[in-house]
Amino acid sequence: MSASAEVFPPGRTIGIVGGGQLGRMSAMAAARLGYRVHILNTAATSPAIEVAASATIGSYDDPDTLKAFAEKCDVVTFEFENVSAEGLALLEHYRPVRPSGAILQVSQDRILEKTRLAKAGVALAPWLVINGPEDLEKLPDFGFPVILKTTRFGYDGKGQFRVANAEELSELADLPYPLVAEKKIDFARELSVMVARGLDGQVRCFDTVENRHRDGILDITLAPAPIEPALAYEAQNMATKIAEELALVGLMGVEMFHAFDGTLLVNEIAPRPHNSGHWTMNACLVDQFEMHIRAVTGLPLPPATRHSDAIMHNLIGPDDMARVPSILAAEGAALHLYGKNDARVGRKMGHVNTIFPKGALPGELALSSILPK
Ligand code: ADP
Ligand code: MG
Repeated sequence: MSASAEVFPPGRTIGIVGGGQLGRMSAMAAARLGYRVHILNTAATSPAIEVAASATIGSYDDPDTLKAFAEKCDVVTFEFENVSAEGLALLEHYRPVRPSGAILQVSQDRILEKTRLAKAGVALAPWLVINGPEDLEKLPDFGFPVILKTTRFGYDGKGQFRVANAEELSELADLPYPLVAEKKIDFARELSVMVARGLDGQVRCFDTVENRHRDGILDITLAPAPIEPALAYEAQNMATKIAEELALVGLMGVEMFHAFDGTLLVNEIAPRPHNSGHWTMNACLVDQFEMHIRAVTGLPLPPATRHSDAIMHNLIGPDDMARVPSILAAEGAALHLYGKNDARVGRKMGHVNTIFPKGALPGELALSSILPK
């Protein structure tokens, strides 16, 4: 099936599958360009529904729900990746879907994802498929330490088992097979690139950034990453290669490790706006959400130029919400809240972008005073 090349100008309706904060910020960017947004979500209220024109409520895999949703939209995109293959096929039957269902299927499954990334010619952490307990016997030869990851539905470090040695391996029971075993990489930094590719094949990469995690959840993003220009460029080249290999139409986050031995390894891809691109909202004229909307509607993609440096800091429930009053009073800090009522432990409630003149991102020592905990 050849993909649709139709352009959807402002005034048309964009369908977004998923109702979370990524959908909310995409809908706000779409509204700024004069689009209407229709959300598909399982619950009747959600961060995205609150800012969208309308919504269909129902299961992501129910054929009647998907049909009702698609009929309300001109073009369909995602903020949530885990729609079944059957659901994706149905959506594609009714409307152009960007990025394609095929790309979503790749990103949903770590085995498919690694296979396609290897085909794109990018380097990955050494990996092995573990189909059942008998395959665990391969691990001592493969080498410890390893990280076992579920092949599907992982996020914020969930569905991962870290195994330091054979003794720890022998203590594991009832693992959720299939799994992917990955060598634990000794990395200097985690980097990511947001890459957009338009209907005409135009590729735009935002600057390479550094991501730091806390308790498996993204904590801060430094934009730009404090690295050599050649490495930042190599990361953008890798992201471009992947976007082209997958024939992406839309936006994609590419997570990478910069290993201590100097190599750049791709960790995973997310074909949608990504938490590590939130800094663009206050440091770029066109942010990741507008770039996403432009790519899926077929509008031109402007250069992903950064006009300022930025530190993005996630606000995680419940403790970080206490910082909101001081953030509101601070200079140079742009607050984004997602409108979630229930500040559960580990829940992403919002983020704050602290902005600096270009080239003036504070060094490591100053960072700690800017980001009090
Ligand atoms: P998720 O889907 O939860 O984001 P990731 O595969 O990105 O899953 O893993 C979450 C985090 O765990 C990464 O950002 C990184 O900090 C760490 N991690 C994952 N894989 C490895 C690895 N092979 N070596 C070292 N650290 C890893
Ligand atoms: Mg990840």
